[in-house]
Amino acid sequence: MKEIGHWINGKHVAGTSGRFADVYNPATGEVQARVALASAAELDSAIQDAAKAQLLWAATNPQRRARVMMAFGALINQNMEKLAELVSREHGKTIPDARGDVQRGLEVIEVCMGAPALLKGEMTDNAGPGIDIYSMRQALGVVAGITPFNFPAMIPLWKMGPALSAGNAMILKPSERTPSTALLLAELLQQAGLPDGVLQVINGDKEAVDGILDHEVIQAVGFVGSTPIAQYIYGRAAANGKRAQCFGGAKNHMIIMPDADLDKAADALVGAGFGAAGERCMAISVAVPVGEKTADALIDKLIPRIEKLKVGPYTAGEDVDFGPLVTKQAETRVRALIDSGVEQGAKLVVDGRGIKIQGYEHGFFVGATLFDNVTKDMDIYKQEIFGPVLSTVRAKTYEDALQLVIANEYGNGTAIFTADGDTARDFASRVNVGMVGINFPIPVPLSYYTFGGWKKSSFGDLNQYGPDAFRFYTKTKTVTARWFSGIKDGASLNFKALD
Ligand code: NAD
Repeated sequence: MKEIGHWINGKHVAGTSGRFADVYNPATGEVQARVALASAAELDSAIQDAAKAQLLWAATNPQRRARVMMAFGALINQNMEKLAELVSREHGKTIPDARGDVQRGLEVIEVCMGAPALLKGEMTDNAGPGIDIYSMRQALGVVAGITPFNFPAMIPLWKMGPALSAGNAMILKPSERTPSTALLLAELLQQAGLPDGVLQVINGDKEAVDGILDHEVIQAVGFVGSTPIAQYIYGRAAANGKRAQCFGGAKNHMIIMPDADLDKAADALVGAGFGAAGERCMAISVAVPVGEKTADALIDKLIPRIEKLKVGPYTAGEDVDFGPLVTKQAETRVRALIDSGVEQGAKLVVDGRGIKIQGYEHGFFVGATLFDNVTKDMDIYKQEIFGPVLSTVRAKTYEDALQLVIANEYGNGTAIFTADGDTARDFASRVNVGMVGINFPIPVPLSYYTFGGWKKSSFGDLNQYGPDAFRFYTKTKTVTARWFSGIKDGASLNFKALD
């Protein structure tokens, strides 16, 4: 059985805790490897070495650090197919989708190539006689990234790019379900010139995470995963005096107005609802057509599109629209939620439960599923399903649709399809959600903006990537300096405004 270890001080290292987790091939259901789960002692030793390496790295000038990002970007491009294959092999998503996973992470690295411009401080000269005030942005020290299974390349890159180019060392703890991609990224960073010890990839589970949260050397924690864990990590990290930004789950609604182009809306819903088997925090999981006529027409357009979707293993290449769920446990949970939707009175329009794929009978597959007449009290509405299930909640008016989105406890992404600019502007202005799409179903902002949800989709301050990430991974120091230019009156004991 293949064993996956850690990346410590520039080398692949086997785990010594004696604890392992199985890594599955989601398409066949077989265990393809086992990943070491780090102990608190292994973690501590990696953190101590990272702290030493960080001092030299932070003293390296920002432009040289940016050059490492430049070389890293080139290496990611050269290794695109290898990275995509690794993502698909453990996650199960299709190869074209896995390329997108790598690409959206690479775009953050591209912004990090210009990090020196984002790390500049501010200055006021002559704030008083002979007095200058200036601020600097300094690295925090050793920081941590804890990432989910669903974007094994993109989210580790979102974490490591800004943190490292700002001069920090990072302990990255990838998901134990998809651990291999981060290890290859670490190898590429070494080839790009990152000194050993500055990035340590520690595989593990709750023990490693709790070790990170309680370790006094760790200055900041960037987490992405489900809402209950995000809230837990935020609370424990903050209680230990750490800076924390913790991004959680989602329930993303798309409103379809009567004036929308329904063919385009249906295409968008199918892509955003079922791409990556719905295992995206920005997946649209709730369609909200406004008016009965819009709803009936939309359902009619969705059915043939959904029935045409091809589900299968990533090895089928471009011939597959989406793959299996990540584990048997995920599959069982999604199937149980579909059962609950039927029991609680939703109309099951397309049923994905019966899917069978020849040669992959033990894979974790669920077919594309469409519900109509879903109501707010049903479990399929209340829970993040994280599977290929699209729920339709019919709204009478635009205002009802908007209020549905506003009342939902999550606030990651949302979208509206309409031909009316006034409605679109009103929606963007009033909705309490972090990322909004107008005739755009998955509004993941480009890498020079920032990514973050509202409400229970995010705990803590500042967004991921873009300028916010450089603020999160640095702290400000402000210097007030006076250079005497003549004979003064002697010391002043009063705390007063500068004259
Ligand atoms: P998860 O919460 O199960 O795991 C995320 C990380 O937390 C992993 O590294 C895991 O090892 C660790 N972890 C899990 N249980 C823990 C515990 N009890 N104590 C300490 N650490 C623990 O999430 P997942 O299933 O890997 O990812 C899917 C979730 O992530 C979905 O809810 C999805 O919406 C969310 N997500 C959010 C964003 C975003 O930016 N908001 C992006 C991607 C995914």
